[in-house]
Amino acid sequence: MLEYTDAPSESDAGTMPCPQCGHGLPLNAPRCENCGWIREGGLQTAEGKASDAVAVLLSVVPGLGHVYKGYQFLGFVFVVGALFAVLLGALAATATAGFGLFLIPIYWFAVMFHVYAIDDRVTPGANDVGEEY
Ligand SMILES: [Zn+2]
Repeated sequence: MLEYTDAPSESDAGTMPCPQCGHGLPLNAPRCENCGWIREGGLQTAEGKASDAVAVLLSVVPGLGHVYKGYQFLGFVFVVGALFAVLLGALAATATAGFGLFLIPIYWFAVMFHVYAIDDRVTPGANDVGEEY
């Protein structure tokens, strides 16, 4: 159990069961230290936790969503890949009477799907942890 020393001590006035494991948590607790449940859209800012939706939106520019999730190198690869996809699509299009253009949206969807599927690597407090969790 964690004690929040700076919080007022009337703890039973503000407790809630963890929705995942039933563990008693302080009301509005951002997460459960028992099972690892994390409140979504909670009081805590999304800082330190990449959102899948945002990452997918950012993937309008392929690779940007990956960078957002902490995969800088992958993001770079996908940006370069996008250039190739457009280039290949255009080349293929001339050879296949336009069918090659399908490569481009397919690539986009693949990138978006991938960025949605991967875990985010944005770790809170990776750079100097001032406070204990
Ligand atoms: Zn829990």
